[in-house]
Amino acid sequence: MTVDTIITGGTIVTPGSEMEASVAIDDGIITAVGAESALPRGETRIDASGLLVLPGVVDPHVHIDEVPANRAGTYETESAAAALGGVTTLIDFAWQGGDRSFEDDEASLLDGIKHKKAKGETSHVDFGLHGVLHRERPETFDELAPAIEAGVTSFKLFMSTYDVGVSNGFIDEAFRHIADLDAVGVLHTEDPTVCEQQESRLRKEGRGDPVDYPDSRPDYTEAMGAAAALRMAEEAGVKYYSVHTSCRKAAEVIEAFRTDGSRVRAETCTHYTALDRSVHEEVGNDAMIAPPLRSQADVAAMFEYLKRGTLSVVSTDHAVYHSSFKDVDQWWNSPYGANSVQRSLPVFHHEAVVERGFSYPFLVRVMCSNPARTFGMPQKGTLEPGTDADIVLFDPNKTQTIRAETNASNASTSIYEGREVAGAVDRTLVRGTVVADGDDVVSDPGHGSFVERELPDWST
Ligand SMILES: [Zn+2]
Repeated sequence: MTVDTIITGGTIVTPGSEMEASVAIDDGIITAVGAESALPRGETRIDASGLLVLPGVVDPHVHIDEVPANRAGTYETESAAAALGGVTTLIDFAWQGGDRSFEDDEASLLDGIKHKKAKGETSHVDFGLHGVLHRERPETFDELAPAIEAGVTSFKLFMSTYDVGVSNGFIDEAFRHIADLDAVGVLHTEDPTVCEQQESRLRKEGRGDPVDYPDSRPDYTEAMGAAAALRMAEEAGVKYYSVHTSCRKAAEVIEAFRTDGSRVRAETCTHYTALDRSVHEEVGNDAMIAPPLRSQADVAAMFEYLKRGTLSVVSTDHAVYHSSFKDVDQWWNSPYGANSVQRSLPVFHHEAVVERGFSYPFLVRVMCSNPARTFGMPQKGTLEPGTDADIVLFDPNKTQTIRAETNASNASTSIYEGREVAGAVDRTLVRGTVVADGDDVVSDPGHGSFVERELPDWST
């Protein structure tokens, strides 16, 4: 008996341990893990000597080909960046009616899911979708059950100053409907009116330099939003997931509501663990994201709360803009968002493992297994036999200097420009097929598939 592929000679990392072992892959599935002598022969033998064998990274927060100004990135380009970054599953967003251009006011969330799935037909890596609920009207709640049927089991709402923000009253009602269906409520939490007030103050003062941007969305506004959202989530009994936690004050609030550890979960993003607001001096509006980059003390707090489990996932919030949109004099004329999916694994490896001594199993938990389990993808983020052979071969000793010129993303800049980090992706496999090898994407566009997600079980 033979199998398609044996990966041998490397150190495999699971959420709980590291061990020298080989991995057998057949028909896109991991069939066995153990000593090579105990495994069947592989038609292809991949020598992973000196490398870590990790589950593919699951990034549950990316924006691809979403708004008109964002057409710099397509599924083909952004999933190529993911493949080079060791990211084998993305969770993107489906909007009611399609893109954030909202041209069709009558089209449903299900139409939006079909629209985004069609865009994803050129993906190199697998992808799922969150549904976004931005239309504040009662019919919106009728769109939840069909979306779940289509494999979209989490729903995002924005409490924000964006044009897609909804009221707390609507969020409260949405949480009850989402709870009834046992799905996940995903929240962007920044208090909108305080942010608006701060922004107009800075505008009046003429403080348009990007270094001043973080002052328009201070840390307490994020904590205020989190407190309101968590209070409503607790009352509704919904599974609650807070996106892009950036500061100590917000993490403190999340921790206070995690009384039994089961219904409240939260992520931070790689950039909040690696950068503070001073990076605006070098990269200007390219680092203009919301919530904003904050202080070194907040960077330290992200690791503190990751260690305690209050924060259990690290994502990117990847979003693409050409520098032509970002290269404007005043930050308030720039769109929000930064691309980073290609850099997330090496940067977080450097910051967490190399600089702060966190373990490889920790890295696998927050970047692979926790996001997969949180969002109902039992086939992903694990090296257990019987699951998808989504695997990253990672060289922890190779150092690299990040340069935007090597972006596979259409984004022409990087918030990590010039940073030297320890660790590099050697190869990435999606369902047993090598999609990235060194600096090259080697799969055909369309290798990636849509992942129909289950309703996640958060009881364990
Ligand atoms: Zn986002």
